[in-house]
Amino acid sequence: MVKIGVLGLQGAIREHIRSVEAAGAEGIIIKYKEQLSDIDGLIIPGGESTTMRRLIDKYDFLDALADFGKHGKPIFGTCAGLILLANNIVGQDYAHLSLMDMKVERNAFGRQRESFEAEIDLKGVADNFEAVFIRAPYVVEVGPEVEVLATYQDKIVAAKQGHYLCSAFHPELTDDHRLTEYFVKMVEK
Ligand code: GLN
Repeated sequence: MVKIGVLGLQGAIREHIRSVEAAGAEGIIIKYKEQLSDIDGLIIPGGESTTMRRLIDKYDFLDALADFGKHGKPIFGTCAGLILLANNIVGQDYAHLSLMDMKVERNAFGRQRESFEAEIDLKGVADNFEAVFIRAPYVVEVGPEVEVLATYQDKIVAAKQGHYLCSAFHPELTDDHRLTEYFVKMVEK
């Protein structure tokens, strides 16, 4: 059984653990950087990217997380986690982990659409995936190495770059675990 960590600083942690277990892997909450050596893949949950970054700095996680990815370990960023993976954030002159070559915009669907659900066609996963968006970002631009997996209203909402996966929505908040299963398969490879 592969071991999948969920970064446990802030956000939808428990829900991801439940989803990882439903997808047939072991889920481990990661609170210290030393725990990264025990896991095969990592999920960075949704929450608030600025708060998460503050906690990442407080617990000295930034380099350890970037190294985890650079050593070839799969990372799946959902919502705020997607923002943390990007190397370019609209309106900001700095990024966070800069592991994926893409430009993202925070809270991009607008205030009137703070949260909503939509059925999307998610390449390699399902053509009827029920996606839950909460103050969601979207991806504005991707580099040549990034494969777009899903769009919603012509905006990129899921993508993959080698061993990195991201979604603008929250796959852990429904009982449909197919995207988490997709990530577990990436980790098993
Ligand atoms: N709006 C949040 C941010 O900018 C992301 C929201 C979420 O993770 N649900 O970090």
